[in-house]
Amino acid sequence: MEIKLNNIKLNVPLCQKTTMRVGGDAHFFIEPKSVLELIKTIKYCKKNKIKYYILGNGSNVIFSDDGYDGMVICTKKLNRIKIRKNIVICQCGVNLFVLNKTLIKNALSGMEFSYGIPGTIGGAVCMNAGAYGSEMKDVVQKVVFFDGKKIKTLKNKKLDFSYRNSIFKNSNYIILKVYLKLTKNNEKTVQEKCMQNLKKRQISQPLEFFNSGSIFKKSNGVGAGKIIDELGLKGLKVGGAEVSSVHANFIINRGNATSSDIKKLVEQIKDTVKQKSGITLEEEVIFIP
Ligand SMILES: Cc1cc2nc3c(=O)[nH]c(=O)nc-3n(C[C@H](O)[C@H](O)[C@H](O)COP(=O)(O)OP(=O)(O)OC[C@H]3O[C@@H](n4cnc5c(N)ncnc54)[C@H](O)[C@@H]3O)c2cc1C
Repeated sequence: MEIKLNNIKLNVPLCQKTTMRVGGDAHFFIEPKSVLELIKTIKYCKKNKIKYYILGNGSNVIFSDDGYDGMVICTKKLNRIKIRKNIVICQCGVNLFVLNKTLIKNALSGMEFSYGIPGTIGGAVCMNAGAYGSEMKDVVQKVVFFDGKKIKTLKNKKLDFSYRNSIFKNSNYIILKVYLKLTKNNEKTVQEKCMQNLKKRQISQPLEFFNSGSIFKKSNGVGAGKIIDELGLKGLKVGGAEVSSVHANFIINRGNATSSDIKKLVEQIKDTVKQKSGITLEEEVIFIP
């Protein structure tokens, strides 16, 4: 099949495509408008030996200041939602905020934990995103994905979900469609649960600054924020990057941070935690070198 891609842009600033608002340019950038265009893009990259990176809303990814010397493929235009009774079928780029608004209207319960997570459903499945005692593994029925050659489907049990991890994090598989199995409830109850969760976020997270959510994973069940806070590291700064005084597991970009500021601050935090508590913190956020 002859592959022609008209929508590839050159030298696109990745700071505009991630919630931390740092990072250099993507050499090539595309937002496919259909699953076919997404697959064609992958095939084009493979044929032309161009490396590629699948990006959702960039809320868990930090690109380097040197940018990305390949094709960044952003899924945000693949945003269709279909509802068949209690099964909700989402294209990978569906925004979680939009999805939750739709679920409220349709009185479907199960995804309320994700209200306020600024990601796409594809990113959320890849990361097994979770909050307030629930995670994606509790609601995903099956996922349709492209393995680089063929479109395949795997059911929940085969997706290797674990804490902030799934089969998609450790492979080149590209999530195309996610089937969610939800529960019929009433509109008011679903909405109230969403609003309660959003309020908890607004109180406990520094949402007025650019950030990437939690920087580190829990360590043996203990929140990294607690560990960092107890060592008095809130307010620690490198350039424009700062450990939030609201939530110690958040690094905020005060407006002029670089990716390298954030990396240095992450290393300083890890070193101090290791020295003083003996704990090795592991990043939840993904740095793309
Ligand atoms: C303010 C704030 C609050 C947050 N709160 C939470 C929280 O409560 N719980 C939580 O778990 N996370 C939280 N996060 C982190 C983040 O929002 C989630 O991990 C989110 O699900 C990532 O979605 P995304 O679309 O932004 O993914 P991206 O950051 O764009 O990508 C994340 C990973 O998913 C991969 N990916 C994306 N789309 C696909 C696809 N279609 N196929 C295969 N791989 C794909 C990417 O390659 C990358 O490896 C928060 C972040 C912020 C900024």
